[in-house]
Amino acid sequence: MTYLMLWCLFGIVSAVAANSRGRSGCGWFMAGVLLGPFGLILVLVLPKLNVAAVDAAGGPVESKKCPFCAESVRAEAIRCRYCGSDLSSAVSAPTGVSPLDKYIQDLRSANPKAREAAVSALGKMGGDARDSIQALEPLTRDPISSIRDRARWAIEEIRRSSQ
Ligand SMILES: [Zn+2]
Repeated sequence: MTYLMLWCLFGIVSAVAANSRGRSGCGWFMAGVLLGPFGLILVLVLPKLNVAAVDAAGGPVESKKCPFCAESVRAEAIRCRYCGSDLSSAVSAPTGVSPLDKYIQDLRSANPKAREAAVSALGKMGGDARDSIQALEPLTRDPISSIRDRARWAIEEIRRSSQ
């Protein structure tokens, strides 16, 4: 009789543990009753079902690369903390567009921040950004002097690493 009660207790504890871990309380009550301590151990050993979602939302592990400056930023960031680029549009951009094409597109942006970030990113890409030199040329005459300097530096950098 005591055993029966003990097994029932394992069922209840298993159900509570399973419930708090996003699993079926009813099913694990049965498992606890049938397996006793093993049911409880099993439910404790199994990974939490809803933990992955919590981590994705708030965990520090999730990160993405800023498409403008290539620094690692939080996945949910909408603004890069390194270069200040707007990442909300970058995230929703179709994945078919290569980063290079995206930067070249940004070179013609009306937003000077975006232009400067794209120029910097292309310069950092070096030889891989060969195809962007033509698009970079007009930026050496950009109204903003820091972008002009950046563009000259980027072109030089790309030419140097293309050799
Ligand atoms: Zn950035």
